[in-house]
Amino acid sequence: MTGSLLTVHELNASYGAVQVLFDVSFDVQPGSVTTLVGANGAGKSTIMKTLAGLVAPNSGTLLYDGRELTGLASHERVDSGLSLIPEGRLVFPGMTVEQNLRLGAVSPNARSGHEQMLEEVYDRFPRLKERRWQLAGLMSGGEQQMLALGRGLMARPRLILMDEPTLGLAPVMVKQVFEIIAELRDAGFTILLAEQNARVALELANQAYLLENGRVGLAGPGRDLLDAPEVRRAYLGM
Ligand code: ATP
Repeated sequence: MTGSLLTVHELNASYGAVQVLFDVSFDVQPGSVTTLVGANGAGKSTIMKTLAGLVAPNSGTLLYDGRELTGLASHERVDSGLSLIPEGRLVFPGMTVEQNLRLGAVSPNARSGHEQMLEEVYDRFPRLKERRWQLAGLMSGGEQQMLALGRGLMARPRLILMDEPTLGLAPVMVKQVFEIIAELRDAGFTILLAEQNARVALELANQAYLLENGRVGLAGPGRDLLDAPEVRRAYLGM
């Protein structure tokens, strides 16, 4: 679509002989939250990994800011402003909060302004500032998710790829993570969010895609998907 920051067109991907994505197409508009919802194993993480350059697609185009991503190494994608916040958070448990954050400033662009970015992250997440010298492995799941988000921001992203940020979190933390995502959008960030937590994810999403067995089943504004009978039946228990 014109004006999209990301356009994925007919993406196919496999693990060995097993195909898991089938002609997946979607768009991400700048300054919006685009959500991929779907059950366990639907293929959400594989889409994220394909975008980050961790899984090579069989075919399809990944147009980011007018540029084809296929063929670019992961680090080149990070340099161009793509930041993956992976499922499971993957913070370094034996390093402090601040060391984890500094690791996020990997691209040359991010490195040059990284002290300022660190202060911005601390302003956004005061809890991380309080705990800056603590080992990341000693923090709660929710705090580690904040740290993973903060580390992603340190890369000065133009497109944030968030893979299941609420996985395994207590309900109060789930709410907080969604509030942060909304704040980031309001601050102008563009977010592609993969979530199993369909209700909240769809309430937040500007645009949403329902992924079923590696295929896009439904697409539309988040609120419209919330009202769709197949979503209500399968994901909202109604
Ligand atoms: P989840 O929330 O469980 O991560 P998902 O929607 O993100 O689900 P994917 O992780 O993308 O789904 O998995 C899609 C399919 O690919 C599943 O059938 C899964 O078993 C399979 N799969 C994922 N990773 C691998 C791998 N490294 N090797 C082989 N198969 C894999």
